[in-house]
Amino acid sequence: MENKASSSNFIKNIVSDDLQSGKVSEVVTRFPPEPNGYLHIGHAKSICLNFELADEFNGKTNLRFDDTNPAKEDTEYVESIQEDVRWLGFEWDDLRFASDYFEELYDRAVLLIKKGKAFVCDLSAEQMREMRGTLTQPGQNSPYRDRGVEENLDLFARMRAGEFKDGERILRAKIDMASPNINLRDPALYRIAHAHHHRTGDAWRIYPMYDYAHPISDAIEGVTHSVCTLEFEAHRPLYDWVIEECEMEAKPRQYEFARLNVTNTIMSKRYLKMLVDQGVVESWDDPRMPTISGLRRKGYTPEALRAFCREIGVARAYSVVDERMLEFFIREDLKLKAPRTMAVLQPLKVVITNYPEGQVELLEAENNAENEAMGTRQIPFSREIYIEQDDFMENPPNKYFRLFPGNEVRLKNAYFIKCEEAIKDADGNVVELRCTYDPETKSGTGFTGRKVKGTIHWVEATRAVPAEFRLFEPLLLDEEEGADKEFLERINPNSLTTLQGFVEPNMKEAQGQDKFQFFRHGYFNVDPKHTSAGRVVFNRIVSLKSSFDPKA
Ligand code: ATP
Ligand code: MG
Repeated sequence: MENKASSSNFIKNIVSDDLQSGKVSEVVTRFPPEPNGYLHIGHAKSICLNFELADEFNGKTNLRFDDTNPAKEDTEYVESIQEDVRWLGFEWDDLRFASDYFEELYDRAVLLIKKGKAFVCDLSAEQMREMRGTLTQPGQNSPYRDRGVEENLDLFARMRAGEFKDGERILRAKIDMASPNINLRDPALYRIAHAHHHRTGDAWRIYPMYDYAHPISDAIEGVTHSVCTLEFEAHRPLYDWVIEECEMEAKPRQYEFARLNVTNTIMSKRYLKMLVDQGVVESWDDPRMPTISGLRRKGYTPEALRAFCREIGVARAYSVVDERMLEFFIREDLKLKAPRTMAVLQPLKVVITNYPEGQVELLEAENNAENEAMGTRQIPFSREIYIEQDDFMENPPNKYFRLFPGNEVRLKNAYFIKCEEAIKDADGNVVELRCTYDPETKSGTGFTGRKVKGTIHWVEATRAVPAEFRLFEPLLLDEEEGADKEFLERINPNSLTTLQGFVEPNMKEAQGQDKFQFFRHGYFNVDPKHTSAGRVVFNRIVSLKSSFDPKA
């Protein structure tokens, strides 16, 4: 799998060639998030790409906050992003902020003005849009394009000093209004924004545009390979123009790859923020969120996310990855690591009428049948146990091998029990089963007297630990069902199901983020936020089986 991924990483080949030809002496990459939300699984792809690329060639990776849009940014995001990158298993060389470079960015803009390569434009946003032209028609020059250098310098200084209102003026590059590439039609370099910045406070009344700040920040940091997603491909000539005209010594190069899309998964901070703000989810780290913090809280491991990113590889072709691929990798990762225990999610009490009253025996159980090194544990068994409600049917269909009146099943790690009677409440609901057990059938004794077709799980009732189980479905209704609907109407009303049941007594001490495989139910993670003394809450990470084969 590793080899396949590396051969599909075309950027790695470029870096390798550049090192061999001496074009660069050391590879330097950066991960440049805007601190306007929490990171999502798409960002994980970019993080893995940038950090692993540098690691492989003994280079460096910076974490740089692209904090040039103060109205939407916040230190809460700055902190969560650092936590998520570290949790994924990466450590940056330098922690940088584009705002560290505001003074230099300003100076370079002054240089552009002096060279006649930038001008202050008084057109409104709407007028600018109208004069921009289209894909087939050239744009028109701004009437302010030929302003003199002195006037431009004066106006730009006054923009900085806060003399003008938001939107009143803008600094534009002077490139070519007839360029077939719209990004080169005198693009904006600086805008006025009377906004408080989370790091520079009220020092600035103008802020640089992404297309201007990004290349210069890369060059200042000595980034050699500036990797971004494909929507920036048409911005590359502007990236190069800025590096050239601003006379940056270092010459970073931009390379693009296809962004990650996952079926049924929202991959945009804007929409994720909407879900948080509208209270559709609990928070950015709600286990249903495709954020890195949400996946962590759901129970994903950094190893699983990194393996996933490696498997999907880095390509330029647009594609949508099946969400089951992500699930495949967490199953793979936890298969041998997670203890396998029993949990009853929807309990039905069973009384074993021929088992001595007051007696409790301890039975031996393996912690992981596929990993002997995980050892064994003891689980109590007595006259009263819980089983799942749907492991009993009064009138079963054909081929139902679990409990029904007169039928015998195996209790995992314990005995055969036979259903004698179902007790009902006044409404006719089954509230308790009366069963008998056969002491000869004890698990591990090699009993071969007769066979049963069903094996069910259970938890001893008097010592069971009450637990809450949270089961998840995708936040969005599947594409088919939700097509053409407004975003908020596409929300799946059943994305969360909460059940109250029981786990084995030795799980009383379970800590946040502990992971288990519950027999027949799947992998679960102890929720770190809702679990407290006496209340264990489990998030289902993924069910046990899927027919999905990522290699098929
Ligand atoms: P969003 O649209 O979700 O807000 P963004 O691109 O605006 O994402 P940034 O914080 O600017 O978010 O992104 C930081 C880095 O992560 C960028 O280099 C961007 O290209 C990359 N990135 C963002 N989304 C994806 C994705 N779905 N797949 C791969 N890389 C991504
Ligand atoms: Mg962005």
